[in-house]
Amino acid sequence: MKSVTIIGGGESGVGAALLAKKHGLDVFVSDFGIISEQYKKELIDCNIPFEEGGHDFEKVLVTEVVVKSPGVPEHAPVLRMLKDKGRKVISEIEFGHLFFSGLTIAVTGSNGKTTTSGLLYHILKTAGLNVALGGNYGKSYARILAEETPDILVLEISSFQLDDIQTFKPNVAILLNITPDHLDRYEYKMANYVNSKFRIAMNQISSDTFIYNGDDPEIISKMKDFQGIQHQISITQKDYIQGISSKDGNEIFEISIKGRHNLFNARCAVEACRIIQLSEKSIGEGLSSFRNLPHRLESCGEINGVEFVNDSKATNVDSVFYALDAMTKPVVWIAGGTDKGNDYSVLFPLAAQKIKALVCLGLDNEKLKKSFKAFIPNIFETTKVSEAVEIGLKSATTGDVVLLSPACASFDLFKNYMDRGDQFKKEVKYAENRF
Ligand code: ADP
Repeated sequence: MKSVTIIGGGESGVGAALLAKKHGLDVFVSDFGIISEQYKKELIDCNIPFEEGGHDFEKVLVTEVVVKSPGVPEHAPVLRMLKDKGRKVISEIEFGHLFFSGLTIAVTGSNGKTTTSGLLYHILKTAGLNVALGGNYGKSYARILAEETPDILVLEISSFQLDDIQTFKPNVAILLNITPDHLDRYEYKMANYVNSKFRIAMNQISSDTFIYNGDDPEIISKMKDFQGIQHQISITQKDYIQGISSKDGNEIFEISIKGRHNLFNARCAVEACRIIQLSEKSIGEGLSSFRNLPHRLESCGEINGVEFVNDSKATNVDSVFYALDAMTKPVVWIAGGTDKGNDYSVLFPLAAQKIKALVCLGLDNEKLKKSFKAFIPNIFETTKVSEAVEIGLKSATTGDVVLLSPACASFDLFKNYMDRGDQFKKEVKYAENRF
């Protein structure tokens, strides 16, 4: 390979361009939209030619290989044209993989990718290993390889990133769960989404390991006809203790991340550490010192004995299920936003058992109200975070928890889930100062 065109000038595309440049390839970046100033500066500083605001098909066709960013949809005219002309189009993950010969641990799933890969990275880093973290969150795979020389790579991988891989093969693959999400990209067919997730293990050989969720019905039904590797490990969520047992069973390692789902995430991370022969002492140290990122079951204040928890990253029903499952106190639940075709029925038993009030925080709350009116005695509506916190406080009594765990995307009222969570934390602090 001598030259490469990159479609998309975001984190993945610019990362791929930097990596191509590092390896002496001729590289050209083409973006249908406008490239952000930060990325444009990087391209200019490295003398990498680019275009924005549309693709010049002639220029794009000059190179033998085309690397596409995961955000570019399959039906984009430029991709169709390239495929019609017989050009080789690969994903940024596939491209990065061509330049890495170290150990790769890749994590995918509908929920828990960032937590699990972050924990795994933390344990390995704390143990003193030369490890890097990236992929779907933080630095792109290609950028890591352009900037660092790690021995071990922990990669968070989305289904979109898996869609265009051909030879990418992690030494250890972790598949956490598969629940309905992003179905708009998969012709609204669950089977297509499941197939996409299983691509994480499709190139593995018998010396590799595939760690998967042994309780997940979608995963189990697909395992029956999955022609993958031999060394598979199923991890179930059944035994629930707030800690992880050492290999010899003599010690319980504590973890700070709460809930059955996080215990499961931690068990997957620990299994990966054991496979690469990390000592039990290092595993224990890493587990106990790990702190999760914000917006994931983040305890963010207490007013009159009422705890406030920010779980703004819970943008689908499954993550809310585990948030409610993790709550040991009566809950005032703040939810709502842009519905992604949610089926709320799995939440009904938990709602009836634990939720005393629902505060709908969205532009259109009809579906939420209709779904939960039989299970939750008090339902309120607002479009303001300050009001949601106020209503939360009024509806809760000492010993309760006010939980923001929306089950929906944030785009109707907020820039993103971080904006939603940050506004929530700010209003909680503001209310705390008034008491
Ligand atoms: P992802 O990177 O896959 O979006 P995160 O680790 O950022 O996952 O967590 C997103 C949301 O999903 C949070 O609300 C978190 O509490 C919840 N979550 C984390 N792990 C799991 C899991 N194993 N199953 C279900 N929900 C989970």
